[in-house]
Amino acid sequence: QMSDFDYDLFVIGGGSGGVRAARVAAGEYGAKVALAEEDRYGGTCVIRGCVPKKLMVFASGYAELVDEAQCFGWDIKPGTFDWHAFKTRLNTELDRLEGVYRKLLANSEVDTFDQRATIKDAHTVQLANGETRTAKHILLATGGRPVRPDVPNAQLGIVSDDIFHLESLPKSILIVGGGYIGCEFACILNGLGVEVTMYNRAAQILRGFDDEARGLIAESMTNAGVDIHCGTSIVEMALESEHEAGTMPSNSDAAMGATAEQSNELNNCDARAGTQGPIWVKASNGAEKVFDMVLFATGRAPNTDGMGLEEVGVSLGRRHEVEVDEYSQSGVPSIYAIGDVTDRVNLTPVAIREGMAFVQTVFGGNPTPVDHDLIPSAVFTQPEFGTVGLTEEQAAEQEPVEIYSASFRPMQTAFAEKNKRVMMKLIVSKETRVVLGCHIVAPNAGELIQLVGIAVKAGLTKEQFDATCAVHPTMSEELVTMRSPTRTA
Ligand code: NDP
Repeated sequence: QMSDFDYDLFVIGGGSGGVRAARVAAGEYGAKVALAEEDRYGGTCVIRGCVPKKLMVFASGYAELVDEAQCFGWDIKPGTFDWHAFKTRLNTELDRLEGVYRKLLANSEVDTFDQRATIKDAHTVQLANGETRTAKHILLATGGRPVRPDVPNAQLGIVSDDIFHLESLPKSILIVGGGYIGCEFACILNGLGVEVTMYNRAAQILRGFDDEARGLIAESMTNAGVDIHCGTSIVEMALESEHEAGTMPSNSDAAMGATAEQSNELNNCDARAGTQGPIWVKASNGAEKVFDMVLFATGRAPNTDGMGLEEVGVSLGRRHEVEVDEYSQSGVPSIYAIGDVTDRVNLTPVAIREGMAFVQTVFGGNPTPVDHDLIPSAVFTQPEFGTVGLTEEQAAEQEPVEIYSASFRPMQTAFAEKNKRVMMKLIVSKETRVVLGCHIVAPNAGELIQLVGIAVKAGLTKEQFDATCAVHPTMSEELVTMRSPTRTA
């Protein structure tokens, strides 16, 4: 069965997608598989994304619990947050998880190479140590990375990767960008006691999501103390000390007293960014302010640079993503790509499903296109946001719809006299009665939308939702008790 190649499959990238594809191809289909990873196993999700982020969400949530508990009769005092203690435990947990990923690969008898790998030709992988390996199939699962905008001295700002390595939390931070990452860290850091300012260039945060949900989240964030400036971006930044002295040229390498070599290192070692002292920032509206730290949450880019892809005929898109068909196959038949490097739907569970579909297609003899329709997802703001299907705006553009929306103060926080609101919203097709979208802004909305996601994916109608008995008293019972439409669109 073995061909003339060293391996049946060589996977580049040991994140969620790559590891899953490698171990299923090897473990379930008996393929001879290798995987190369230049950084830590587990990738963005486990090492510098979803997992440490969610642990920080938990950490930041305790602050207001004390307050609430007092209203419920507990004699309990607010404490202080010890970033160092949390970070130590966080690192221990990430080490454990990385170990789990390595073990999964070892147990499936996947050969691992702890180094960078690039493409030499359609069937050959070039390793950083100079060696090459051949494979019948190559799977690119190299993910993405945060990008800084084109602003003078942008390297003074940190990106999301750096948050988990900070020596201490800043007193104040400017977050540039109001997408998933910007909003999540705004809420986390605000909860941990950092003064948070956000510059969002559009008129509202969380572009692409349901407008009513965006509005409620922005309002809740503002009420919680995040200073959101919409229609605002950053035009210039400099170290405050250099700005005051008038010595900071727009190319700061020299100003920071760094040699070219050192400044390269600074760019590559982001953990050092943000430690140089207060940063002066000029906004597009002319405002000049000083922050302890600036976080760029201005989007992510696929990791395709220097991979040798275009040289072997793999075409890249406008954002440098690998262009693939519905089976994740690139223009070079032996080369496939999954996950964020393809910039389709950049979410961990999607990368895993793309990896599984790839294995089915190539090793299972069962061509399986990836289903990107009706993917539920959550944004871990406070309150959380869970969403599946069409927004009100998208649905209204497609067909006549009924909107069922309830926004109210939930029992637990209302009792504590907090002015917090949640929202449960369904978008229903007038013609077919199918629930086209569901949007939930509420504590644990991520957990809720996972379950509603099943019903929406199954194409259930509003009447089928209503046939389900309410669970009382809960917030989500609204989803089956909204009798008449709030409006039509
Ligand atoms: P997003 O694309 O979600 O948000 C980027 C933000 O930065 C937007 O507000 C955007 O504005 C703004 N922006 C982009 N370029 C500039 C610029 N040059 N100047 C000023 N503002 C700018 O990216 P994120 O980095 O937040 O997240 C990347 C991806 O990671 C997400 O799309 C998602 O797929 C994934 N992710 C998922 C999470 C989850 O599921 N919970 C959590 C975190 C990440 P505008 O809207 O005007 O373009």
